[in-house]
Amino acid sequence: MKSLSLRLLLALSFPASVDAYGAAMARTPAPRPAIALTFDDIPVHGPLPRGQTRVGVIRAITAALRRAKAPAFGFLNAGFGLDDPAARNAVTAWRAAGLPLGNHGYGHLNLDRVGAPAFVADIVRNEAPLAAAARGQDWHWFRYPFLAEGSVPAMRDAARATLHARGYRVAAVTMDFADYRWAAPFAACTDRRDRRAVALLEAGFLADARAAALAARARAQAQVGRDVPYVLLMHVGAMDAHMLPRLLALYRELEFRFVTLAEAQADPYYAAAMDLSRPGPTPSLAGLPAIPPLAGPPAAASCS
Ligand SMILES: [Zn+2]
Repeated sequence: MKSLSLRLLLALSFPASVDAYGAAMARTPAPRPAIALTFDDIPVHGPLPRGQTRVGVIRAITAALRRAKAPAFGFLNAGFGLDDPAARNAVTAWRAAGLPLGNHGYGHLNLDRVGAPAFVADIVRNEAPLAAAARGQDWHWFRYPFLAEGSVPAMRDAARATLHARGYRVAAVTMDFADYRWAAPFAACTDRRDRRAVALLEAGFLADARAAALAARARAQAQVGRDVPYVLLMHVGAMDAHMLPRLLALYRELEFRFVTLAEAQADPYYAAAMDLSRPGPTPSLAGLPAIPPLAGPPAAASCS
């Protein structure tokens, strides 16, 4: 009774705010878009600044993910870093953080260059080390190196049929800001202790990530009529590790919520990636609307 009269008093005293409250309640809040983070080229991607290690990069990435409570999926090239004991430790560190691994080919071959038989053999060659590293988790997810799925239908179908027969799903890419382009200038500018150039790289990296996120949402609206859960392509590079806390904060600021790859691809939009008996290619949001090209690393910060 007491609270009822208080409410009445408030309504009489502040009619505008009561109206605003009612209007807010009547609106259904728009669901926040979902994003799944994926990291390719484990354990070795791009040049490192002097003094950094592969395991250090992985630990920085997994620490940032843990702090942001963001799941992620990694993709292994077991043929990378065989001459470097730190590379093996990097794979162990990824798994020790509780993060899953899938197949990215043993030697990261381009299907269009090598053809289906060599490509498939390289996938199979990666399976034993992948199964050993991924113990206890389903590793039957494949990410095409270079996102090359075969430009000729016969080649594409042959690779896809093998992946299907071996029980794989394909990890799609529906958000991509070409993070790999930043690895070399970041290493060079860090080695030169050029703080002005590094600051330019940091700002540009976040600007391209933001532009790619907005572009993906615009394409989903145009092509699907709604947000799809986005699958973001990244790599285990030193710049990615350096920027990940700020990048995850950016996605939160853009109101994304973080989901697993399996949760994202449970959306019907990804049916052709989940069931490889269906015709390809993997859904990618490629196409219209046309979007301006990403700016990439500024020439003023090449440090070469
Ligand atoms: Zn790759």
